[in-house]
Amino acid sequence: MGIGQHLKKGIINMNSRFLRRLIGGILLICAIFSMTAVSFGAGQVYTSGSNVRMRSSAGINDGNIIATLPKGAALTELSRSGDWVQVQYNGKTGYIRKDLLTSGTAAADTANTSTQPAAVSQVPAATGGHIVCIDPGHQLRGDSKKEPNGPGSSTMKARVTGGTRGTTTGVPEYQLTLAISQQLKAELMRRGYTVYMTRETHDVSISNKERAEYANGLGAEISVRIHANGSSNSGISGALALVPSAKNPYIASLAPSSQKLGSSILTAYCAATGLKNQGVQGNDTMTGINWCKMPVMILEMGYMTNPSDDRLMEDASFQAKMVSGIANGIDNYFR
Ligand SMILES: [Zn+2]
Repeated sequence: MGIGQHLKKGIINMNSRFLRRLIGGILLICAIFSMTAVSFGAGQVYTSGSNVRMRSSAGINDGNIIATLPKGAALTELSRSGDWVQVQYNGKTGYIRKDLLTSGTAAADTANTSTQPAAVSQVPAATGGHIVCIDPGHQLRGDSKKEPNGPGSSTMKARVTGGTRGTTTGVPEYQLTLAISQQLKAELMRRGYTVYMTRETHDVSISNKERAEYANGLGAEISVRIHANGSSNSGISGALALVPSAKNPYIASLAPSSQKLGSSILTAYCAATGLKNQGVQGNDTMTGINWCKMPVMILEMGYMTNPSDDRLMEDASFQAKMVSGIANGIDNYFR
């Protein structure tokens, strides 16, 4: 081997040592970078539903909404405290309830999501994970303290009334409404909806205004309020829907969509149960409707003062029909 070759080999050796160090260094940098990337990734969260409200402070009130985000919006999580997550979105810093965020990627509303990770739909396409708030009417004890009947209204109404009672079965309305609502929640979740309930127990104190504000704060797409009717005439039977009318002083703009919601649910409910359809009625006196900021309806499932309706509504197999009827109506609304 000539001197030239020695030199050449030395250069090669030197080069390969240098290369090993260089590669090692690059790997180290890559490792550090990927750790950094992972920690950035963990800070990324996505809105799990549509119309998710970002607020200037960690609490629900009308004055602190700073942005309304579509489903699948990517945000940077800054911190968490209780039910609230501090996030950054489009240069704004604010707060979103933790149950409206997901760490996984969610299917987005809009098509311009190419910069976001591939959408992974966790729900059947038919329901698209729509957000439903169910309000089981009434509670263990009525509350006669007053609250405004609508935003800015000087008309004051009881926070929540005691409801009616089965004249044949003796079952109070607040028990029937929760029993149906719990089954409805399970059925809707099975169908892929995101479901919230204003109450899951009887002994609560939640006014009708507060029930509406709860739904507003969730960014719920619809509010379905479950009630049963009462009449001094025990011969009256059947189901009806109450919705805001086109003349509602607070949410007239939501009258058409609420009409559609009321009619979808009532039609499917009566088809499933065979109960008489008493129609969709405009009603602008309901505090729990007037404070809502999304399509809202009250389903009066039947008359607890009618022996036949009352007995049927306490029958387990009939309840299953009631529940699937309401769920079918919600499916039809979103279709
Ligand atoms: Zn009621």
